[in-house]
Amino acid sequence: MTLPQIRLADGTRLPAIGQGSWHMGEGRYTAREEADALRLGLDLGLKVIDTAEMYAGGRSEEVVGEAIRDRRDDAFVVSKVLPGNASRRGTIEACERSLAHLGIEQLDLYLLHWRGGTPLEETLEAFEQLIGDGKIARWGVSNLDTDDMQELLGLSGGRACQTNQLLYNLGSRGIEYDLLPTLTEHDIPVMAYCPVAQGGRQSRHLTDSDAVRAVADRHRVSPTQVLLAWTIREQGGQHPVMAIPKAVRPEHVRDNAAALTLELDDEDLARLDEAFPPPARKQRLDIV
Ligand code: NDP
Repeated sequence: MTLPQIRLADGTRLPAIGQGSWHMGEGRYTAREEADALRLGLDLGLKVIDTAEMYAGGRSEEVVGEAIRDRRDDAFVVSKVLPGNASRRGTIEACERSLAHLGIEQLDLYLLHWRGGTPLEETLEAFEQLIGDGKIARWGVSNLDTDDMQELLGLSGGRACQTNQLLYNLGSRGIEYDLLPTLTEHDIPVMAYCPVAQGGRQSRHLTDSDAVRAVADRHRVSPTQVLLAWTIREQGGQHPVMAIPKAVRPEHVRDNAAALTLELDDEDLARLDEAFPPPARKQRLDIV
């Protein structure tokens, strides 16, 4: 069985479920437990690890660095520059700080976390310099809606954008109206954040719903696995979306990795659509 993969704009193929790291390094768990969770995820094929300079002021990057020490090639490391640092010089300095926190020579992917006051051209120039200097392998964006994306793609070099990291889950489908089709048209996959709606109480409206429960029972899986399989479902013959759930509890990591092999059929998807319909009109971009 071939596990679902997404293809970045440059052709790089990656498993369709990766790992997030927001709130790691904040003391909710020990740094050891967090790094162990990420390593378990790598063992189970969750190759992409997402972090950001913003998360715990760099301590999340340090946890990720600890997790990938001695196994750099097993991971595809993503970090993000804050908009307030996204000037030409600021981006380069932020990237160097992130590399130092992570203890690595090169980021596999570097994203603009969201759009701020700096012109996109300037951040893009910094990304190009970082590629030239070997500090990042490729770049992308996060939280850019369709109009911002159109602007970016119209810039010289803008089509080298590899992904747009966006909030996307069964309960928040607004991007399906125009942003996801626009990105798919340009072969730019989505990296879905909050794919399990942040877990716990915050995701109960989904995990306790009759529709999700019925699909989970039918496949003998957990409601969270249904949410993940739904997020990365195949559309038009390919997977345009990857999911990056964050999990520290080992049973959560295992659950998430097992979702790679869960295939939802038309009956499942119709049931989920009925309970959580796709958007009928343009919606404001959902963010956290
Ligand atoms: P998620 O939807 O990934 O939810 C994470 C929560 O769900 C954690 O509390 C986790 O618990 C729990 N969980 C994970 N797996 C399971 C499971 N199988 N069963 C039950 N509960 C589970 O939310 P995030 O906000 O963390 O989003 C994912 C990642 O996306 C972030 O970590 C970050 O890397 C990125 N992100 C990017 C943003 C951006 O602006 N670009 C914004 C927000 C997130 P526990 O950890 O206790 O195991």
